[in-house]
Amino acid sequence: MVDSPAKLSHHPGSHVAVLLALPLPTAYDYRVPSQMVLSDGDFVRVPFGRRQVNGVVWGAGLHDINKSKIKDVVECLPTPPMSKVLRLFVDWVGAYTFSFSGAILKMTMSVPAALEEPKPHFVFSLNPSPPIFKMTSPRQRVITVLKKGEPQQELGKIAHEAEVSTSVVSGLVKAGGLLSQRAAPTFKIARPDGNLPGLKLSEEQAAAGEVLAGDVVKGGFAASLLDGVPGSGKTEVYFEAVAEALKQNRQVLVLLPEIALSAQWLERFERRFGAPPLQWHSDLGPTIRRNTWRAVAQGQVDVVVGARSALFLPFSDLALIVVDEEHEGAFKQEEGVIYNARDMAVVRAHLENISIILASATPSLETIANVKRGRYKLLQLPQRHGGAKLPDISLIDMRVEGPIAGHWLSPELVEQMKRTLEAGEQVMLFLNRRGYAPLTLCRTCGHRFKCPNCTAWLVTHRRGVGRLQCHHCGYFTTLPECCPSCENTTLASCGPGVERLLEEVEKLFPKIRTEIAASDSITGPAAAAELVKRIENQEVDLIIGTQIVAKGYHFPLLTLVGVVDADLGLSGGDLRAAERTYQLLYQVAGRAGRSQHPGRVILQTYMPEHPVVQALLSGDREKFIETETTAREESKMPPFSRLAALIVSGPDAVEVDRVASLLARKAPHFDNVLILGPAPAPLSIIRGRHRRRFLVRAPREVNIQHLLTNWLASYAVSRGIRIQADIDPYSFL
Ligand code: ADP
Ligand code: ZN
Repeated sequence: MVDSPAKLSHHPGSHVAVLLALPLPTAYDYRVPSQMVLSDGDFVRVPFGRRQVNGVVWGAGLHDINKSKIKDVVECLPTPPMSKVLRLFVDWVGAYTFSFSGAILKMTMSVPAALEEPKPHFVFSLNPSPPIFKMTSPRQRVITVLKKGEPQQELGKIAHEAEVSTSVVSGLVKAGGLLSQRAAPTFKIARPDGNLPGLKLSEEQAAAGEVLAGDVVKGGFAASLLDGVPGSGKTEVYFEAVAEALKQNRQVLVLLPEIALSAQWLERFERRFGAPPLQWHSDLGPTIRRNTWRAVAQGQVDVVVGARSALFLPFSDLALIVVDEEHEGAFKQEEGVIYNARDMAVVRAHLENISIILASATPSLETIANVKRGRYKLLQLPQRHGGAKLPDISLIDMRVEGPIAGHWLSPELVEQMKRTLEAGEQVMLFLNRRGYAPLTLCRTCGHRFKCPNCTAWLVTHRRGVGRLQCHHCGYFTTLPECCPSCENTTLASCGPGVERLLEEVEKLFPKIRTEIAASDSITGPAAAAELVKRIENQEVDLIIGTQIVAKGYHFPLLTLVGVVDADLGLSGGDLRAAERTYQLLYQVAGRAGRSQHPGRVILQTYMPEHPVVQALLSGDREKFIETETTAREESKMPPFSRLAALIVSGPDAVEVDRVASLLARKAPHFDNVLILGPAPAPLSIIRGRHRRRFLVRAPREVNIQHLLTNWLASYAVSRGIRIQADIDPYSFL
């Protein structure tokens, strides 16, 4: 959407409200200096205290400020102005997440360097016919570097290799020994082509694709849920809508939950559209971030695929947003501004007045409820592409068929692994637990290793340097030989992590090639892509993975998936425990037998009657959704109500308790609003901060933010205490 031409201009001497990219409660007023005319949305630099900071012109000045006090805008930055829609979005997300707009603005301006014109960039080469100049040994080294290496090099690189300061290089340019030349821009943006033919779609696929592409043609807000079993071709189908946006020369944003692991997706995109999309995630270097941000703002980028933060990029002409694996908890950001990128994506699509597609094989109950309310269109793909069969799922009741103590794989699972491996096919074992063992204790005195900063056990890791590690705050220490409390060498690991499972597998099948896939072994896109390649090329026989392997991969020869502990996610007082476990295991099961080879999935469980386990076994997803939906409705939980958590935290437990009980006394009383707490959070100490939680439940028609505002108005700031709201909480820790 483009701003209307009648943009409000602010002339010299007038006051403008500038929202700063800082967590402050309001915008600040500044004066437009002579020779400058500003419009709403302009990026500006302004004085703030003793520094200068970046912000955006948010409108006309609001405050009646003493003329002698108001400060001038320093500079209007050479960047296309922020669109009105994005400004509205910033305010909207701020209000919804109970955060300051400036904190949201900061997310949209995450690369301050991108606000400046890129500095021209020079390369240096030897002057073929140099004048006579004084030769020194540093200068000689510079010349040697250029003679032996690339004939054109950058300043920093030459200086580094010749072991001289950069002034030696510039001195040589002055003396005429070197030539300097403006380098060609290295950041090239390939343009995906929407007119290339896609795969030949099945009738069902084509019908869904037409609807989605049709929405892009029509324009206007349209939200659809693309619901299809794993392998049904959801990606190919939403590519039809992407193609349509590309034909119109407009922009597309695709959000993936775990961009670091999206190598296969990127490859498919490039095959389909002849060029890769631009990526946006936290692993990118500063230069590429700067270039990408700027190119998006200037409308030079057609498609961005990214993690949740990509939602805050300054697209100038967005036509479509896709949220793939929409049910994923990874879309929820839990630190800083707490928001759910899937939900905020729908908001942005609404404000931009464009299409949004939510895709999943296991849609969230929230999204299903939105379909039932008629807000989202439903498009279903009930079949795997090419007639590949859904895997055959069976249970192992660990109470009767379990392994001997200290082992985690039941005899039946081991037997199936053996057969699969002998047939030259691949096995995946799924265990959602990193490290070697989740708990280490002393058999003599019972000492357990606890994190000094958190209410959590330390997890033993043995790969590389053995250590005990906290999975909440990152604290770690070396694994001692003997118990720090009684000094006996009787430390014992309790329970399995992926590393321990590998040990068992290696004993059973010493000859096979194994690989662990967990977030600490697969640290970025390159490592993930490499592993995917090796699995595809059959250089790996067995993969032991945590939840990172559940997502979207397609391995033709993977025919057996063993879920080592199907019960793992089911305990704990988490609202979504059943839903999440179901989704995760269903997705994991979907990895098996995705081509012509039929797949098998074996679930090891101690709770064979559990509804989640039964739903997986019967393959009756609708039944599961129905049961779970009814349970939520009866307990008045989302999506049938609104929830917000309020977390009071601070370094001093007494002060935290004082503030929490003060808030409890001032809690609002309404018939239909339930406020629970304050209770110590399940992880009552994280990173040395004590935490108390309130949980607020209200009917959907109640404005919960408003309620929180009124409630917190009674509270006077107390040192070291932080009160954080989490609207629509996902984590109950
Ligand atoms: P989903 O996202 O629903 O799990 P994908 O889009 O990943 O499904 O498709 C699964 C596999 O089937 C992919 O390898 C994809 O290329 C292939 N596929 C899907 N639709 C077609 C089609 N119409 N023609 C050929 N291959 C297809
Ligand atoms: Zn910790």
